[in-house]
Amino acid sequence: MALSMALSRAPLSRWSFRLSPLKPAPFFTFSRYSSSIQLQPNCKISSSASLPTEESMASPLQFEAPNGKKLNWKPLCLYYTQGKCTKMDDPVHVDRFNHSCSLELESNGLGLKNFRAQKFDYFLVLDLEGKVEILEFPVLLFDAKTMNVVDLFHRFVMPTKMSDQRINEYIEGKYGKIGIDGVWHDTAIAFDDVIQQFEAWLAKHHLWRKEQDGLLKDAAFVTCGNWDLKTKVPQQCVVARMKLPPYFMEWINLKDIYLNFYKRRAPGMISMMRELQIPLLGSHHVGIDDTRNIARVMQRMLLDGALLQLTARRTAGSPNNVQFLFENRI
Ligand SMILES: [Zn+2]
Repeated sequence: MALSMALSRAPLSRWSFRLSPLKPAPFFTFSRYSSSIQLQPNCKISSSASLPTEESMASPLQFEAPNGKKLNWKPLCLYYTQGKCTKMDDPVHVDRFNHSCSLELESNGLGLKNFRAQKFDYFLVLDLEGKVEILEFPVLLFDAKTMNVVDLFHRFVMPTKMSDQRINEYIEGKYGKIGIDGVWHDTAIAFDDVIQQFEAWLAKHHLWRKEQDGLLKDAAFVTCGNWDLKTKVPQQCVVARMKLPPYFMEWINLKDIYLNFYKRRAPGMISMMRELQIPLLGSHHVGIDDTRNIARVMQRMLLDGALLQLTARRTAGSPNNVQFLFENRI
């Protein structure tokens, strides 16, 4: 994809008010699929159990970031992210798709000069997708000391209460246009299975005090806004007739940290990325891509010296009440 084409697709219109004299940054985006694919509405990925045809997918891209750094980007293998890639020994497949969870460091040019010791050893970056019901549950495990992602948990989620027809329309509308409806249909599982697998993953990483209070151990969720953990997970637990797990009771809203640290209000992930001159990678509103972009913003904020503290907590004994811990919040 030519850079000029990517630039012309810069999707931004919302702007936050500014308290600083930062100039608007050149902003560009690299999507999961090449423009030639996007111009072919009939190009669909098979919804069979096989992997998508390689011909329909984008090639790796190289581009230069605003700071002059050369970046390589290729779309994540969405089977790999769910532990289901069967083509790791196929060099063509491995060349075309990213099979690593690590991020390139979002340098601020100052290295670790401003870095502060953090209260948490790990951050769990979470960005759910799905309006009516949760469709995608991606979590990145970010090590606050190495400043990088060390593992990920990603599942597509099958709605609990929708008819097959409604699900098909819903998935076609959300993921069809970027050609990942096939992998969604291949891999989606019920929310209670997702949670069960997620808990096994937390336990594997020693991040969960299962036998004590059920809270996270040395880790905190990081979200972009309060919606994911204040609203959506509790709603989905009701639909799935599950009790809200205790580890979802508190979190860090990165937008509140951003506001209090930079003294600028950013209404969303895109505006934070724009102001910090971080290029958007992947497809906005694909949960695993958004999660990686939020982690890149967080990584940059840590390098700039931000301290990531809890911003919201459910009140013990009355879990419907959420207490917000920062006075200035978005
Ligand atoms: Zn793969």
